[in-house]
Amino acid sequence: MTDPEVIVVGAGVAGLSCATELALVGRKVQVWTDALPEHTTSRAAAAFWYPYRVDPVDRVIPWSQVSYERFGALAADAVLSRASGVIMREAWELFPEPVPAPPWSRFVDLFRELWPEELPEGYGHGVVFEAPVIEMPRYLPWMVAELGRMSVELVRRRLDSLDEALAAAPVVVNTTGLGARELVGDARLFGVRGQVLRRARGELDRVYIDEHGPHGITYIVPRSEDVILGGVADDDVEHTRVDEGQSEAILDRCARIEPTLRETQALGVNVGVRPCRDAVRLDQEEIGEGEQARLVVHDYGHGGAGVTLSWGCAAEVRDRVEAWLEAR
Ligand SMILES: Cc1cc2nc3c(=O)[nH]c(=O)nc-3n(C[C@H](O)[C@H](O)[C@H](O)COP(=O)(O)OP(=O)(O)OC[C@H]3O[C@@H](n4cnc5c(N)ncnc54)[C@H](O)[C@@H]3O)c2cc1C
Repeated sequence: MTDPEVIVVGAGVAGLSCATELALVGRKVQVWTDALPEHTTSRAAAAFWYPYRVDPVDRVIPWSQVSYERFGALAADAVLSRASGVIMREAWELFPEPVPAPPWSRFVDLFRELWPEELPEGYGHGVVFEAPVIEMPRYLPWMVAELGRMSVELVRRRLDSLDEALAAAPVVVNTTGLGARELVGDARLFGVRGQVLRRARGELDRVYIDEHGPHGITYIVPRSEDVILGGVADDDVEHTRVDEGQSEAILDRCARIEPTLRETQALGVNVGVRPCRDAVRLDQEEIGEGEQARLVVHDYGHGGAGVTLSWGCAAEVRDRVEAWLEAR
């Protein structure tokens, strides 16, 4: 490849989405990354579309909407859906007592309140909507293959400073997740450990989410061949060892909602650490002037919603990069 115009640092869902958006508008892009996509936090994600544990709301909701539409388009095309592992599922979000409709209810499909007689035992309120489910073990390799078709290279390289990338391209996009804590010294980032179970899907085809109940965060996410059960949100815990006690507790909580889960075969456990921050960092820094001018766009700190925000943030990154390169 000739010299890149943009280097994206990081190959999780944020980096691959930014690289895609920039390649689609014709930019020469390289992705530099320490870990390959299959070894990132993104690979461990459940992953369903839901703006969980992430701020600020006024930016998160429009970003989520862009992603919702993009995932919806992938799911609507049978060939693309099979290749990318993105499907739409009916999702039930359950609450102990009535709450106002969330701000995203205005743009998701088929949003309505559940009837009292539909609610599982122990719940006082619920809503139903269509949610994209993104099967990460399929989705990430599909994204890498699509990038390859657009001649975007993935380069294995751990950076100690963004200057290494700035020496090779005028624009650098920083999508290093929790790695940004060291790379750019961002002390506002902190890890929140998650653990999910993988079991045989059986006949299950509905997503369940209980984020507010007294028993702790609970979700059931049926993918094409298996079902993901969660979850765990341990603030400031960053090890990735499996906790057997937590696995039992997750199964207990999920089986309260869907008792047939107890009979399904256990297939594995995934652990990952969410890159949390008081607010997502999506901003830019301009360095130097004239011929030597450089741009860094930061896109990290997506907490428990990195997949949900991926396309919305990538679109903003693309617009910022395009505006800067065109004004140059
Ligand atoms: C159990 C669990 C369940 C989840 N479920 C969902 C869900 O259902 N829906 C949802 O939207 N989100 C979910 N999330 C959150 C989501 O996984 C994250 O928000 C998202 O993966 C963050 O993506 P990222 O690309 O920013 O970071 P990462 O996936 O961590 O990628 C960071 C990349 O940067 C690279 N990097 C870091 N430092 C350097 C360096 N110095 N030099 C070079 N490269 C570097 C890494 O190698 C890696 O490639 C879940 C998370 C967990 C743990």
